[in-house]
Amino acid sequence: MDLGIAGKWALVGGASKGLGWGCARALALEGVNVVMVARGAEVLEAAAKELRFEAMVEAAAGWKTPQIITVAVDITTEAGREAIWNVAGGPGKNYDIVVTNAGGPPPGDFRDWDREAWIKAIDGNMLTPIELIKATVDGMAARGFGRIVNITSSAVKAPIDVLGLSNGARSGLTGFVAGASRSKIAGQGVTINNLLPGKFDTDRIRATLPAMAQKQGKTVEEMRAIQQAQIPAGRYGNPQEFGAICAFLCSQHAAYMTGQNVLADGGAYPGTY
Ligand code: NAP
Repeated sequence: MDLGIAGKWALVGGASKGLGWGCARALALEGVNVVMVARGAEVLEAAAKELRFEAMVEAAAGWKTPQIITVAVDITTEAGREAIWNVAGGPGKNYDIVVTNAGGPPPGDFRDWDREAWIKAIDGNMLTPIELIKATVDGMAARGFGRIVNITSSAVKAPIDVLGLSNGARSGLTGFVAGASRSKIAGQGVTINNLLPGKFDTDRIRATLPAMAQKQGKTVEEMRAIQQAQIPAGRYGNPQEFGAICAFLCSQHAAYMTGQNVLADGGAYPGTY
């Protein structure tokens, strides 16, 4: 299926690996020009180099080879975002697609988190996506097309005890998006949706598993096996399949979907709705 977005410009946060990389890749393979952001320049450049090659091969399908630009900055800072808007060869703030994403907050016990820990989590997982939306959404509306996808977490629907910072900060973003997505921009071709990962095999899960394992008195390998057995699909997801869902939400075909929280979790969430 042609997603109808070749030639558009996408900004993808946290794009050097994991879920952000999956989204950047799926968009680039649809002919979308992508600005990839992460802090570590070396890993980011290596990911972009591979993607440029893959996208060039895929472009033989009929569209122009997309541009893939990297910006090695901390997207949660104002200076980082300024660097993104000003990157040479980029579209300024005139993005058609924005995938908001950065690392998740650390796991732990809520008794140990002080105000600073909360502010950091809220900055990264709530205020940064809101700043990115604020900067780009009116331009999208003026041009009559826009897609914003926020990578949040299944923890928004079913909280995870050791991820209290994530449960809280992302719920704030979810509430904001519920309102903003239904504002005037909904009639101007702009959609805002949240894509909620369950358990995906990325560095993030490798970082949170030890805390969960310790809490339950298991080894990391035992914990991994327990988690996968609890997922109806019987496995963790992978970034490529996450990226494919993201690209669909960014497509012309998803124009009538907005303000939604789309779970990608192999059936792990047990609710009917
Ligand atoms: P990951 O594999 O650790 O990748 C995170 C990416 O974000 C990397 O490219 C990282 O590169 C970049 N990044 C982190 N902090 C950044 C910052 N401040 N500015 C710019 N880039 C930043 O994580 P993931 O699994 O893809 O997770 C993506 C998001 O989904 C996270 O918020 C995570 O909490 C959430 N999530 C993941 C899962 C899962 O199962 N994987 C489940 C639920 C929610 P640098 O470190 O070089 O910056």
